[in-house]
Amino acid sequence: MKDFRSKLMSNPQTITGYAAGAFAAPTGEAIPVIDPATGTTVAVLHESDGAEVDTAVAAARDAFRAGPWAGASVADRQRALHAIHDAILEHAEELAALETLNTGIPFIQTKNIHLPRAAQNFRFFAEFINQDGGEVFTQEPGYMSLVTYEPIGVCALIGPWNMPLGLTAMKMAGALAFGNTCVVKPSEITPLTLARLFEIIDAKGILPPGVINLVNGRGHVTGEALSAHPDIDMVSFTGGTETGARILGALAKGIKGGAMELGGKSPSIVFADADIERALDGAMLGSFMNNGQMCLAGSRLFVHEQVADEFIAAFTTRTKALRVGDPFDPATEIGPMINAAQVARVASYVESGLGQGATLLAGGGQIESDGFFIEPTVMQSNSNALAICQEEIFAPFATIQTFSDEDEVIARANDSAFGLVGYVWTADLERALRLSRRLATGTVLVNTPIMRDLRTGFGGVRQSGLGREGAKGSRAMFTEMKSTIIALERPALPRMGTGN
Ligand code: NAD
Repeated sequence: MKDFRSKLMSNPQTITGYAAGAFAAPTGEAIPVIDPATGTTVAVLHESDGAEVDTAVAAARDAFRAGPWAGASVADRQRALHAIHDAILEHAEELAALETLNTGIPFIQTKNIHLPRAAQNFRFFAEFINQDGGEVFTQEPGYMSLVTYEPIGVCALIGPWNMPLGLTAMKMAGALAFGNTCVVKPSEITPLTLARLFEIIDAKGILPPGVINLVNGRGHVTGEALSAHPDIDMVSFTGGTETGARILGALAKGIKGGAMELGGKSPSIVFADADIERALDGAMLGSFMNNGQMCLAGSRLFVHEQVADEFIAAFTTRTKALRVGDPFDPATEIGPMINAAQVARVASYVESGLGQGATLLAGGGQIESDGFFIEPTVMQSNSNALAICQEEIFAPFATIQTFSDEDEVIARANDSAFGLVGYVWTADLERALRLSRRLATGTVLVNTPIMRDLRTGFGGVRQSGLGREGAKGSRAMFTEMKSTIIALERPALPRMGTGN
């Protein structure tokens, strides 16, 4: 896999947009794409300006109007989605290597988790539309009421850098399954895998021209041109809360909707009756997988005081033992941060935590290298009000608080601007169900770290977002619900304007 890196370092790739079945010429502003493990340029992205965004949106609109996709039979759409699933798996090794090169996420994770999941999204939605249907209501005598779901039109799909292919593949699969066309905008920091996926789909001729389109570039240029475009019908966005708010502002002007998968600061609560070894495994994964750069990271830990000494000592020892290094090395557990800004951000949180009275249990420093490596960090705090417990750090950085009482820990867990996931570690079923009700989050995970089930909806409350991704959540996002009410009989109607 290291060959892969040297090949791209000596011959950086050129990344451009794609519209109406053709890749754009590399004319836009050139932005280097960096390998965060070495700090070297591995590709050059040519930014899509307003005119290029117009072209991509027009291609999606034409393809939607002309109807080869929205009007295709479910069987045809299923065939295409299955073909994309197969194509991703056929290229899994290469796509995983590109993802690792661009994000710094360990190759064993991109290969074994991200890639299968990216592919599975297409298979899941292909199967879902075969069973999915509308609704019929017959309760009103003399009437039959139908609810049908129609494609919404042109979807703008804007993704983040922390899981570029997996997260955007879910949006693409959902949007396409329900008959929409789309314009995809990856993060300008991590455009490599989606650009390659577009090449693969194009080479295999899986979709009619214009059904999928790609624009690349920075948020304030390409992202804004796309999300404020008058001819898109919705935005499905995954990224930071502030960006989500800006996009919602742009959408409000056109009275359009958007689905927002935003940040998190998820509590992970370890009760004294939990299987402590398993809770430790889960807390380590929840804090440090994906280099800790996960929206659903369960990195705000609460540990019951009866088991706190044992748990905190083991968590600290294991954090110090994490293997940080080259993400292509199979032994590596933590790769580099995405960029220098993220390294500086972590350092500022260590300083802020110490300044506000937290104790540094592990890490806290930078690792000298050409890449962006930091030491995995744990800080203990006796207050949930500290910035390190309230703000999303998006790094291998866990905070630990102790607690003595269920009501008290629920209040502290819910004391957050975010509400994405709540993790509960307990052997008590009644307690697990009670917490499932009382945690103010979109998802509650009991005795398991990160777990997604596409049949359920994933999304957040409060500043963690709007809408849910997954079977019916994605249908709500990517379709318009239409009601048709039919009179089955012809009872006499009041005859206005006849004098009777
Ligand atoms: P970001 O908000 O900086 O960028 C996300 C995308 O939005 C990028 O493609 C960017 O170019 C684009 N963008 C930026 N400004 C824009 C604008 N004004 N208009 C339109 N587009 C714009 O987020 P990021 O730093 O790439 O990703 C990290 C964030 O994403 C974290 O907060 C994380 O929690 C969140 N995230 C959430 C989920 C979830 O499912 N809830 C999943 C992954 C990541």
